[in-house]
This record gives sequence, C-alpha cells and structure tokens, in this order.
Amino acid sequence: MRNVEASTVRDVESIGYASACAALRRPGSMDDMNRALLSSLRSRWVNPQPQKWIGHLARLIWPPVCVICGQASDRLEDCCSGCATELPMPRGGCRRCGVVLARDIEVCGACQSSSPCFDRTIPAFEYQRPVAHLIQRFKFSGDLAAGRVLARQAAERWLERDVARPQLMVPVPLNWRRLWKRGFNQSEILCRDLAEHLGGLPWVGALTRVRPTATQSALPADRRAGNVRGAFRLNRLPPGVRHIALVDDVMTTGSTLDECARVLKRSGVARVDAWVVARA
Ligand SMILES: [Zn+2]
Ligand SMILES: [Zn+2]
Repeated sequence: MRNVEASTVRDVESIGYASACAALRRPGSMDDMNRALLSSLRSRWVNPQPQKWIGHLARLIWPPVCVICGQASDRLEDCCSGCATELPMPRGGCRRCGVVLARDIEVCGACQSSSPCFDRTIPAFEYQRPVAHLIQRFKFSGDLAAGRVLARQAAERWLERDVARPQLMVPVPLNWRRLWKRGFNQSEILCRDLAEHLGGLPWVGALTRVRPTATQSALPADRRAGNVRGAFRLNRLPPGVRHIALVDDVMTTGSTLDECARVLKRSGVARVDAWVVARA
C-alpha cells in the first residue's frame, strides 16, 4: 500500500518548495510567496483538466443520477438542484469550537476556560440526513460519488459565505493501518476536490498519524483528547505558511482537530481553521 501522506510531501519537496523558497528570499511580500507556492503546486496537484473533460464526456453519455434522491439529475452533477438546496445548513453557535448554541457567539464558556488550538470552526452543513448518510457512504462504503458531492456542495457554501481563504489546506491523516483497510483517506479526497472547486487552493499532507488510535466515535467524550494526544507528527510545511485550514469530514468533540492544530501551531503557523463538512 502506498503511503499517500509521505508521497505527497515528497511531491511538495520536489516541485513546490524551491520556487516558494526563492520567492521568500526575494525582497517582497507574503503575496509573492503565496503566488509562487500556488502556481508550483497547482500544476502538479490541481490539474484536473484532462480528467475534467473525460468526466464531462462520460456524463453526457451516461447522465448523472442524484446520489440523494436517486432520480436523474437536472444538471451535470451527481446531486440534483432540488436536493442541493435542501442540504441542512449549520445552526449558529460558538465560532471557535462550533458547538451548537441558540445564537452565534465568538467564544463559548468551554472555549474560554480551555481554548482549542484551532481558531475557527467552519462547518459546511449540520450533521443530519442526508449529509450524515452521504458521509457514511463515502467513508465506510467507499462511495466516491457521495464524497464528490459533499466536497462540491461544501465548497459552494463556503464561497457563498465568503469564508477566510487559507494559504494551504491540510487533511487530517489516517494511520497507515486504517488507510490500508479503507483504501483511501476521506480527508485527502475532500482536499483534492475542494482544491478544484476553490480555484486551485493548494493542499499538502503535512501531518502523519504516527500511532494507531481507537476510533473516536467509540470513546466517551472525556477520553477522546487523551486518545489522540501525541498521535500526529509534522512532516514538513512550505516556508512562510501562516494560515492553514485543516480539512476533515466530521467534527464531534474536536479532539482530533485540536491535536492536529497543536502540532501545526508548534511549528509557527499563526492561524488554523477547522474546515469540516459537518459539525455533529
Ligand atoms: Zn436529488
Ligand atoms: Zn466554543
């Protein structure tokens, strides 16, 4: 089984860092570095053109079926426009940890007493049907069409809400054993598809899960932070990256994202947002 995280970092090292570093060494702004980084990464990772045309052609021959209602889709996507508009929007709550509350607030009481390492939680949807069902199909049954729909719809919601754009997306990694069993890392696939829908926003598998952890959903909330403590290692980050979005499918207690953000911040990243398809 190919170690996806490791190979992704090797790819960055070979094609992305040199031009980003060169930009940093030149007198100039952070924007220079961002542009260099973006263009160097885009050509390798975010080059969906050939697949895109093949995809369009295939969809003309075999019109897409909506993954939610099962009817023929009224557009060239696996989700019809009716189902797309009915996806459950996230309810208001704490902007920091994303806990659902009666109204939007900057920081809830829990965050005031113990702040998570990430700065913002940005869920695209509430964890309800049909989103919850699509996530389960994607993650546990390998339904990649469901994953594509989730990424596209999440990207559209974030664009509509004009969320702060990070310099880089980083997927939450899987341990190699789980990666081998599942065959793919759902967060990495989400990053890949989000990059396409967000104008080539770069992403890199900057973190590795260095030890297997028990499935978070199988543990009580008070044991989840301990379960993931020390479970992640930073591989390498492009220089000068100050704002990262960690990407995951679902946030429940946020312990996993908190631990990932802790590792990124330790390396000097100033802001880490948690981009999740759904907040449970
Ligand atoms: Zn539908
Ligand atoms: Zn909070």
